[in-house]
Amino acid sequence: MDFALTEEQVAIFDMARAFGEEHIAPHAAQWERNGTIPRELWSEVGALGLGGIYVSEESGGSGLSRLDATLIFEALSMSCPSVASFLSIHNMCAKMLDTFGSDEVKTNFLTPAINMDLILSYCLTEPGSGSDAAALKTRAERTVEGYVLNGTKAFISGGGYSDAYVVMCRTSANVPKGISTVVVEKRHR
Ligand SMILES: Cc1cc2nc3c(=O)[nH]c(=O)nc-3n(C[C@H](O)[C@H](O)[C@H](O)COP(=O)(O)OP(=O)(O)OC[C@H]3O[C@@H](n4cnc5c(N)ncnc54)[C@H](O)[C@@H]3O)c2cc1C
Repeated sequence: MDFALTEEQVAIFDMARAFGEEHIAPHAAQWERNGTIPRELWSEVGALGLGGIYVSEESGGSGLSRLDATLIFEALSMSCPSVASFLSIHNMCAKMLDTFGSDEVKTNFLTPAINMDLILSYCLTEPGSGSDAAALKTRAERTVEGYVLNGTKAFISGGGYSDAYVVMCRTSANVPKGISTVVVEKRHR
């Protein structure tokens, strides 16, 4: 079996590494001291097609593979691991919206997320459930107006910073299959 990268994959890695060296590495230490990543960076990252790396082309994403995405995250990590891991989480959320979201969810959240005009956080972990994710307790109750969520999340990368939160929550019995996903906006747009 041939494990060598294709020419295209090498080019993808080189592109991400060069972008990181020019736009991220010179500022990474300062961003770390400030405890935040400037929003302007994400517009540049979005313009490169990295906001929906393995979102389908049909939905406006780059339609690349998980391996391609891994190469991009590895290359960006050489400049700043925080930027790379944050971007990987955003992409994980975008893929979920592409795969499972309604047309309305795709229009309102996925399209701006691909451009990185809208930053996404992934909210699975809770104070009492980490590796055993299916033990989560946050519950979503259906109301006339939509859903009311009650619960506590923990360790959420981008909590308070991101624009929308992909929240795993319980919508039926306390069994692994009773879990749904709700997208929560930080603000009304
Ligand atoms: C920097 C950072 C960013 C994060 N960002 C996010 C985020 O954006 N969104 C989100 O939802 N979560 C996030 N997390 C949470 C992360 O997903 C959890 O920390 C992870 O799932 C582990 O859960 P835990 O910390 O509760 O550890 P635990 O599940 O309590 O595990 C503790 C230890 O026990 C071991 N262990 C657990 N179960 C078993 C088993 N059955 N057999 C043997 N060993 C076991 C684990 O390997 C680990 O060493 C983040 C965490 C970190 C550190």
